[in-house]
Amino acid sequence: MATKIRMVDLLARKRDGGELTGDEINAFIHDYTAGNIPDYQAAALLMAIYIRGMSRRETVDLTLAMANSGDTLDLHDVAPFIVDKHSSGGVGDKTSLAVLPLVAAVGVPVGKMSGRGLGSSGGTLDKMESFSGWSWRLSLEQFKHQQRDVGLVLAGQTQALAPADGKLYALRDVTATVSNMSLIAASIMSKKLAAGADAIVLDVKTGSGAFMPTVEAAEELARVMVDIGMDAGRQVVALISDMNQPLGHAVGNALEVREAIDTLRGGGPDDFWQHCRVVAGHMVLLAGKAKTLAEAEALIDAARIDGRGLAKFRELVVAQGGDGRQVDDPDRLPQARYVEPIEAKKSGFITAMDTAELGWVCVRCGGGRLVKSDVIAPGVGFLLTVKIGDYIEAGQIIGEMHADDDMTLQQAQRDIPAALTVADDPAPPRPLFYATIDGEKN
Ligand code: URA
Repeated sequence: MATKIRMVDLLARKRDGGELTGDEINAFIHDYTAGNIPDYQAAALLMAIYIRGMSRRETVDLTLAMANSGDTLDLHDVAPFIVDKHSSGGVGDKTSLAVLPLVAAVGVPVGKMSGRGLGSSGGTLDKMESFSGWSWRLSLEQFKHQQRDVGLVLAGQTQALAPADGKLYALRDVTATVSNMSLIAASIMSKKLAAGADAIVLDVKTGSGAFMPTVEAAEELARVMVDIGMDAGRQVVALISDMNQPLGHAVGNALEVREAIDTLRGGGPDDFWQHCRVVAGHMVLLAGKAKTLAEAEALIDAARIDGRGLAKFRELVVAQGGDGRQVDDPDRLPQARYVEPIEAKKSGFITAMDTAELGWVCVRCGGGRLVKSDVIAPGVGFLLTVKIGDYIEAGQIIGEMHADDDMTLQQAQRDIPAALTVADDPAPPRPLFYATIDGEKN
């Protein structure tokens, strides 16, 4: 290993609250991507950044260095205008699985680079890997062909595209350095810039299951990302959405795929569908396919009702090597060995949920990673069919646990009810969205 920068100096400066120069950030990203800086020094820098933070200038420099760590796609030879979306991470957040095919089905080309699970939040790539044979490792040529032929691509970081994010993302996941504004902004926007979309909808989550617990923090993150995207010549809108409880009912990779398929078939939980139609509507609006959000949402509704969204999802699965029969018959998706009810422990109104803890329940059962080499168990997870505001009785069945072994099953049956706050008086209902931030409102 050989690097021109003295990592020890950078570490000491960041540890003591100093700033890194643009050249130092570029050199770090270049050398870490090339394998010339060991994980232990990169992990130490991430922790120093996590604790000390980064200035806005450092955040922008980090984003651009990561975006330029591989190729940046120009897709205009295969599609005139491409849209993308990205979530800042949540629990039960399977939005991309339903939204991307619906948007593509109304004729808006969608090209997306997604991530794996991160901390307590699930990742779209892990969910899609529930399909036998499905792969996110696309060459630039494959990305372009599929963009032209299917109008929908869902790729992950490769050696070619934003490789720095691929490496840092995996390291953050297992070093408790996820929920830092600069690291999240750089991770998300480097992927978005590298994948070449013209317009991007950012779904920035806030609440007990989000990396940004308050609306103010989420707005700050959204503002930085919108600015970075606009400076790079992209159209960007950020929606601040609620993550004080899991989105929909399903948490866990194959269970979430199933819920997304149900939703594309016209069913699924109402909160999840309402969330999807707003996100999808904004993507269609940015692409200029509709004049108002209501008009855009009506196009999305039509593509769901007549089955074009589901057909496009099947096309996506098959184009990337997956088994389309699992879309037709979700019983063919991976299943956990044990399925048991989850019972409420107390009577009263649910007033809050520790949503991150609910995400960790799934991770501890094998649905996410505790170390980089962990292999995901796709069938595990749970359905939680109650929401904040619901009245529950002690002993009432509030969901269903899917586990591969008896120990994690019993632990989850204790941990899930314990993550709910139950009180005598009801709490006000949670809105799905808090704010919209776009490039106009500086
Ligand atoms: N999604 C990403 O791609 N990166 C993050 O850091 C968080 C969510």
